[in-house]
Amino acid sequence: MPRDLYEHSIRTAETAREMAAAFGLDAEKAYLVGLVHDCGKALSDVELLDAARAEGWSLNEVEIAEPYLLHDRVSAVLARERFGVDDAEVLSAVEKHTLGDESMSPLDKIAYVADMVEPGRPYPGLDALRGLALENLDASYAEAYAHTIGYLARARKPIHPKTVPAWNSIVLGGSK
Ligand code: GDP
Ligand code: FE
Ligand code: FE
Repeated sequence: MPRDLYEHSIRTAETAREMAAAFGLDAEKAYLVGLVHDCGKALSDVELLDAARAEGWSLNEVEIAEPYLLHDRVSAVLARERFGVDDAEVLSAVEKHTLGDESMSPLDKIAYVADMVEPGRPYPGLDALRGLALENLDASYAEAYAHTIGYLARARKPIHPKTVPAWNSIVLGGSK
């Protein structure tokens, strides 16, 4: 993978490990999630679409317009098939790291948040979220997710259909 993506992956792994340790979860598992979470991101849009079709996935209009939204699930396929990752919890966190999900394990939430707060990603308000990421996993996931939705609306980006159920499970409860 390109150097910047490699370095982002290492920083995400380190951040995820730190978060897992803070919450009494498996720190090495979290590190592995960070290492592989974006391994499909080096693929071009055409390669991502081909990979998704090869897996037999039906694509929605947002994925066709924004093929990079497939890199979460393609990364999980590559992690399993090319890098031999067989831990279902790790693969789940990789799959859900971009869009979240109705049902999120603590490791899934760590991947989502660590990816956003790793030290290479400065943005306004990040410092508060960084602190929260080591204090309250649910609150930091909710804050990170809200940031994404706000950004998408402001940038006039299409919102993926998974985003509504994922968000509603945060605000209505039931996000595990
Ligand atoms: P990265 O792969 O390390 O850059 O991080 P992510 O896998 O979390 O991808 C982040 C990008 O996905 C950000 O630009 C988000 O705004 C974007 N994203 C997340 N959800 C959606 C969505 O529903 N629609 C669109 N168009 N983009 C989204
Ligand atoms: Fe990603
Ligand atoms: Fe990432």
